[in-house]
Amino acid sequence: MDILVIGGGGREHAIVWALNKSKKAGRIYCAPGNAGIGQIAECVPIAVNEFDKLTAFAAEKKVGLVVVGPDDPLADGIVDAFEAKEIPVFGPRKNAAEIEGSKTFMKDLLRKYNIPTAAYEKFDSYEAALAYLNTQSAPIVIKADGLAAGKGVTVAHSMEEAHQALKDIMVTKVFGESGAQVVIEQFLEGQEMSILSFVDGETVRAMPAAQDHKQVFDGDRGPNTGGMGTYSPLPHIDPAIIDAAIENIIKPTAKAMVAEGRPFRGVLFAGLMIQPDGTPTTIEFNARFGDPETQVVLPRLKSDLLDIFLAAVNGTLGEVDIEWSPEAAVCVVLASGGYPASYPKGLPIAGLEQAASEKDAIVFHAGTALSSDGQFVTNGGRVLGVVGLGADIAEARTKAYEQAEVITFSGKQNRTDIAAKALV
Ligand code: ATP
Repeated sequence: MDILVIGGGGREHAIVWALNKSKKAGRIYCAPGNAGIGQIAECVPIAVNEFDKLTAFAAEKKVGLVVVGPDDPLADGIVDAFEAKEIPVFGPRKNAAEIEGSKTFMKDLLRKYNIPTAAYEKFDSYEAALAYLNTQSAPIVIKADGLAAGKGVTVAHSMEEAHQALKDIMVTKVFGESGAQVVIEQFLEGQEMSILSFVDGETVRAMPAAQDHKQVFDGDRGPNTGGMGTYSPLPHIDPAIIDAAIENIIKPTAKAMVAEGRPFRGVLFAGLMIQPDGTPTTIEFNARFGDPETQVVLPRLKSDLLDIFLAAVNGTLGEVDIEWSPEAAVCVVLASGGYPASYPKGLPIAGLEQAASEKDAIVFHAGTALSSDGQFVTNGGRVLGVVGLGADIAEARTKAYEQAEVITFSGKQNRTDIAAKALV
């Protein structure tokens, strides 16, 4: 069966890499893909928001399955566009993707169905939001309602910071329409974890939990990024807490979406806070695979990813075999100098072949391109994700950092403390 994967980051490289192992997979196309994806799939120069071109391409190539990676096209209804052309597609429809695309929708849903989440109020006027904010104290969290490339959330440690964030969203409108509403939310203390699940209506098949590192510098300092590294499993977290999150948060949410007439089909990503008393609560839901969580979860999948996607599309997710390897995976992101602010592009990358040929290491490309003379060059903020595999986190981490050293480009930056917390 021929497949079209939509997206062009490290997450999509991991998806294509896993699909490529399936005996049933025929040709794999990726739109737009990147230089690393181009080594194992055929990259198609169509942007993720060009729905007409994407559906026409899939129809012409008679692909048996489309898999959507990024959030923006999901929120804009790309799944509905493929379904309208009767092309099988893995991902949530627009009305289900709203669980990520609108924080007010997500918060209201969880409140309505008594699913644990931080206390909040929502506002569509600056004056009302300000009046409420003035009754609160720091720390407090201010969130733009819509998608804002991970930048719409301010965890304010002073009221001054909170006022500034509210003004930025609702007066200066730095996120445009995404900031037409705000959520003002109770600050939660604790440790974060992510659980991604394959979901097909009410059937939830959770993947192993992962943790990411959002800030750019060691010790969780500096501005937030798309993610500087991840690891899975989480040996320092009691498995009962992970089970509680699945039973008390993720399954009830899938059920609630069905009850609301918006059945979720795709990957439901729960961003969770384990509170100091050990109770998990919800920070956010995403409607797709995480990046870079996918890079540490899919290498641990022993079953056929294509079978799982097809089962979800056909409504038989409950019956498919999904087995995970007990080994650990650690992903270290190599980023361009200057990221997450501005950074140069087009810098030659050395050492890729050597790192990629290493046993128990995988190099997923994120922002890479091929220069006119066929050389791999940097082409984004996050350039590569180097994954190490091992019997435990310590082994996987050593392997990831060894290979991260082998790869070089001018200005390369990476955190040196990925998974350090999990060295138990
Ligand atoms: P992304 O798309 O990058 O995952 P987002 O814009 O959807 O982020 P959230 O995940 O809701 O935003 O929040 C981003 C980060 O802010 C969280 O990972 C968490 O670290 C922090 N955060 C959000 N809400 C809270 C809260 N109530 N208490 C403490 N920290 C919070």
